[in-house]
Amino acid sequence: THIIELQHVWKRYDTGGEVVEALKDVDFYADPGEFVSVMGPSGSGKSTMLNVLGLLDTPTEGTVLLDGKDVTDLTDQEMTTQRKQFIGFIFQSFHLIPTLSALENVEVPTLFGEDPTARERATDLLERVGLGDRLHYRPDQLSGGQKQRVAVARALVNEPRILLADEPTGNLDRKTGRSVLDLFDEIRREDDVAVIAVTHDPQLGEYADRTVQLVDGRIQ
Ligand code: ADP
Ligand code: ADP
Repeated sequence: THIIELQHVWKRYDTGGEVVEALKDVDFYADPGEFVSVMGPSGSGKSTMLNVLGLLDTPTEGTVLLDGKDVTDLTDQEMTTQRKQFIGFIFQSFHLIPTLSALENVEVPTLFGEDPTARERATDLLERVGLGDRLHYRPDQLSGGQKQRVAVARALVNEPRILLADEPTGNLDRKTGRSVLDLFDEIRREDDVAVIAVTHDPQLGEYADRTVQLVDGRIQ
């Protein structure tokens, strides 16, 4: 089965009389271990699609299947539970907490889980992304590429099946971007995680198994 699937998804925003159709009859899927890129011009619906895939927003019409299970009509609380179990997020601007160390940042998604193995997992992940000697550095003591590696470790700490990335190389130079993409490639191969990245970066397209083009809310 697909780890995540959108079937005939429509998203309409009603902004005081004027209706914007951000997604129009979108069919999409990703399989475990697959690397899928989503490209398209500004305003084509990429963020909306990522929010629906990330269970941060619900479609106006259509179905969202997560690991074969219909999650379209779950309550907000049930969605949060599914999101924490299945999905890791990575952002263009890293979204690290500036006052916390790399290690503490990676532990953030586990803090309320009272999991005694969390620190060990966070340490192992930082070693894996090449930052074993930077555990106690704060974000402002790290380069852009290192910050994104911390964010990748944080996204993986609850062992998700899906990584959703919003312009993950957008704030990185070409070479650093490539090293982060190499890391994504390793993760999806070794951990069987589906990586879905929204991007303008043609370099990212080279890494993807498939590229989906969104134009005016429709997949081309
Ligand atoms: P992209 O990420 O490709 O730039 P978005 O998903 O952000 O595209 O936007 C798709 C369309 O939906 C745009 O026309 C945008 O203005 C509209 N849109 C997005 N979010 C909202 C919102 N919260 N309310 C109203 N319109 C929105
Ligand atoms: P960036 O500018 O780094 O790409 P944004 O602040 O634009 O990041 O956020 C990208 C998307 O992620 C937004 O559409 C937003 O709804 C979503 N988002 C923001 N904060 C969170 C969060 N804590 N967890 C999951 N998704 C989030």
